[in-house]
Amino acid sequence: MAVVGAGLAGLTAARRLTAAGVSVAVVEARDRVGGRVLNEDIGGGNVVEVGAQWIGPTQDRLAALAAEVGVDTFPTYGDGQNVLEYAGRLRRYSGTIPRINPLVLIDVERAQRKLNRLARSVPTEAPWEAENAARLDSETAATWMRRNVFTRAGRSLLELGIEAVWAAEPEDMSLLHMLFYIHSAGSLQMLFDTEGGAQQDRFVGGSQRIPIRVAEELGERVLLGHPVRSIAHGPDGVLVRADGAEISARRAIVAIAPTLAGRVSYDPPLSGYRDQLTQRMPLGTVAKCMAIYPEPFWRADGLSGEGTSDVGPVRLTFDNSPPDGSVGVLLGFLEGRHARRLGRLPAGERRTAVVDCFARLFGPRAASPEAYVERLWAEEEWSRGCYGCHLPTGAWTNYGPALREPIGPLHWAGAEIATVWNGYMDGAVRSGETAAQEVLERLV
Ligand SMILES: Cc1cc2nc3c(=O)[nH]c(=O)nc-3n(C[C@H](O)[C@H](O)[C@H](O)COP(=O)(O)OP(=O)(O)OC[C@H]3O[C@@H](n4cnc5c(N)ncnc54)[C@H](O)[C@@H]3O)c2cc1C
Repeated sequence: MAVVGAGLAGLTAARRLTAAGVSVAVVEARDRVGGRVLNEDIGGGNVVEVGAQWIGPTQDRLAALAAEVGVDTFPTYGDGQNVLEYAGRLRRYSGTIPRINPLVLIDVERAQRKLNRLARSVPTEAPWEAENAARLDSETAATWMRRNVFTRAGRSLLELGIEAVWAAEPEDMSLLHMLFYIHSAGSLQMLFDTEGGAQQDRFVGGSQRIPIRVAEELGERVLLGHPVRSIAHGPDGVLVRADGAEISARRAIVAIAPTLAGRVSYDPPLSGYRDQLTQRMPLGTVAKCMAIYPEPFWRADGLSGEGTSDVGPVRLTFDNSPPDGSVGVLLGFLEGRHARRLGRLPAGERRTAVVDCFARLFGPRAASPEAYVERLWAEEEWSRGCYGCHLPTGAWTNYGPALREPIGPLHWAGAEIATVWNGYMDGAVRSGETAAQEVLERLV
């Protein structure tokens, strides 16, 4: 078996197949494993994650994998008050609900309830079969918000939430896609929340320890530094051609984001139906930015480090200090149009814009970090964006079945293929398990 991509999806598939006694080669473009999961050393024995980091309730397959390879979790720091920069004022608040105009809160709450209800009507295995699928897929999240969120501030808050979850703008994606994604996670609250939601816990030593440990188990089966350029496929199997390596196998699992899978050349070429799907699955735009301080000074001021801003360019912040708080790390996300704009600035100007934002939210001590770390995922040749792919209007209903359907000996895996926690590490693990199962059923 050949597996393309040593992210969580590919590594999980390879681990499953190896356990079933199948011989496997994982072909990875980069000189490291983990894909969108990446630790960066900040000295003193500490790391920060410049890619994926959080795990939350119901992300059971990722939790199981982490436990099997011996990587523990700890809670995201959340003691103290959150800050909100909104309508020209800085406010502190406790809990999940900021003290702003109650009419706005009711407006947002109603919209969220409506979205959750609509989401439950979208089957995650086949969103195109939802009742009213054609109508839901013919409008964007933005046009829906215009008709269903009545206050300007309510729309702005929801837009902030959409940027935080999809790293895209409401006008970028179809309402049907948004609903599918909400359903695959459980609810909007699961996506938005820290405690009880997707941002609840972190991994001790950084999330990349999970793929690193799986790769250690797989040993020489993982081939690094070999970008796959083409795959010949037919009834007799596959021939995977990478820079510096050729693998022939009975089947292949292509465990890379669909957009990138569409850039591999296939012989014979894949159907127009499949290719036109992969033409319609852009990745979101994110720069993950962290400022490092001698200590998490905001904690002494009674602040959690969690902040939101309607000004930006950082719209969302977290305390990302290591578990022992031996240094302070403020994490800020540039997402969607903010990442697109700031991503084109010189690094120094971007750093200044981010650190200025931290200083507005957390006071003058935030203005002088000891170090600064950032990663622009759209610039990464073997990712081209994150967190995951989103589908624009018309894509699910016209091309949906092409997403998961194997083509001869070719199988698809990756966070984008998952029906549960689509776009997340947990979804990537689930997709790897499913693809391995598909292959095992066909190998007998
Ligand atoms: C900044 C950031 C923050 C995130 N935060 C979270 C979070 O907190 N929690 C969460 O659950 N998820 C989060 N995510 C999403 C999460 O990282 C992904 O859903 C998940 O890691 C995807 O895994 P994957 O195996 O499907 O794909 P990838 O991780 O993209 O793996 C694909 C692999 O294939 C390789 N590859 C690509 N093209 C080729 C080729 N042609 N030949 C060979 N190899 C190739 C790539 O190098 C990569 O290693 C975040 C992502 C980012 C970037």
